[in-house]
Amino acid sequence: MALVVQKFGGTSVANAERIGEVADHVARCRRRGDDVVLVVSAMGKETDELLRLADEVSTTQPGREMDLLITAGERKACALVAMALNDAGVPSASFTGSQAGFITDANHRNAKILEINPYRVREAIDAGMVPIVAGSQGVSTEKDVTFLGRGGSDTTAVALASVLDADACELYTDVSGVFTTDPRVVSTARKMPQISFDELLEMTAVGCPKPAMRSVEVARTYRVPLHVRSAFTWEPGTWVVEEDPDMEQAVVSAVVPDTSEAKVTVSGVPDEPGIAAGLFRALAEAGVNVDMIVQNVSIDHGVTDISFTCPKGDAATATSITESRFAEHECTVITDDSIGRVSLVGAGMKSNPGVAATMFETLAEASINIEMISTSAIRISCAVRADDVDRATQVLHDAFDLG
Ligand code: ADP
Ligand code: ASP
Ligand code: MG
Repeated sequence: MALVVQKFGGTSVANAERIGEVADHVARCRRRGDDVVLVVSAMGKETDELLRLADEVSTTQPGREMDLLITAGERKACALVAMALNDAGVPSASFTGSQAGFITDANHRNAKILEINPYRVREAIDAGMVPIVAGSQGVSTEKDVTFLGRGGSDTTAVALASVLDADACELYTDVSGVFTTDPRVVSTARKMPQISFDELLEMTAVGCPKPAMRSVEVARTYRVPLHVRSAFTWEPGTWVVEEDPDMEQAVVSAVVPDTSEAKVTVSGVPDEPGIAAGLFRALAEAGVNVDMIVQNVSIDHGVTDISFTCPKGDAATATSITESRFAEHECTVITDDSIGRVSLVGAGMKSNPGVAATMFETLAEASINIEMISTSAIRISCAVRADDVDRATQVLHDAFDLG
């Protein structure tokens, strides 16, 4: 008998029919003898809808009230799934994040889990019930409701699986696993039967939405066996595993498209020690998550250009911080939100030269201009025009025979 944490994403519980299918699946797992703990997301696009409503009524949007609002989506789904399960003959009980024992910091809209005291969840399991936990939420050290951020239900599930010492954490979604690229962009994308934690972490860091990056970090740190799979076909999905040192690794495992970032360029900054340090410290203090950075060599007059990318939502803050830092210099700051990025990820890159050359040649043959380049040991990313991202993804997926 295994203990399995099963998380269902928004599309998996989008309507009454889907909730019924989830309840049937859980009933099957129970009949097989497994103990099941559920984590659910808000139904369909409800989180977006709640955020849109907040935009309509408020420009200030206090974090405390926003978090109570957003987390309502998960609670509603949780209660409905509990009712459907009880009707299907499976005793179950719903729990908010707070009732499930999730204690977080007070950083509203993106709170971090500090500790989990899941004694009510354990009691329910011991009583033969299926506990259903509302995803992406907790209660802060100041006793307010908190939201763990977009995609936070994946993190709830993995963290809960870790503290309950579950045999597996299953993330059910609308695709059958982790693919070689976004299946919405490339029709020949292939499901990977398994992928290493390191590769998946790189993929999520450069824009792969599934699973949420923080959940992969938690799974890797606490060695939670993770299985990404379909809530529609119920077929086996992708297992996330430790890298096998004895196995030959794929040079390129996946291509990741992303259009969620903007580029900020400041030209004419003094080329002297402390300039970059001052700018990026100010950006960090404002919570701007900077990603790619490029600084040119100064050719004349001791001035240079610095470009960096950050999430589109942070671009306005980043631009005003950059402008105010260089207000006394003759600098120009330009923000570009038509930038995109395409990345190759593969553990075998470490020992195989030539991947970058093939990537750049492939983009050149497709007449796609590369604007910035960044690398890690197992990733190469190129910033290109946002309009070129889908085509770049397609040609690279073909060039590395991933289909
Ligand atoms: P959920 O709501 O279940 O948490 P998301 O909508 O956040 O799921 O993420 C699932 C979506 O991620 C899929 O519909 C798929 O189009 C997209 N996606 C993008 N890249 C990939 C990839 N490499 N593998 C799998 N899915 C991907
Ligand atoms: N519903 C929230 C979101 O869409 C949290 C989650 O489902 O992970 O981001
Ligand atoms: Mg999600």
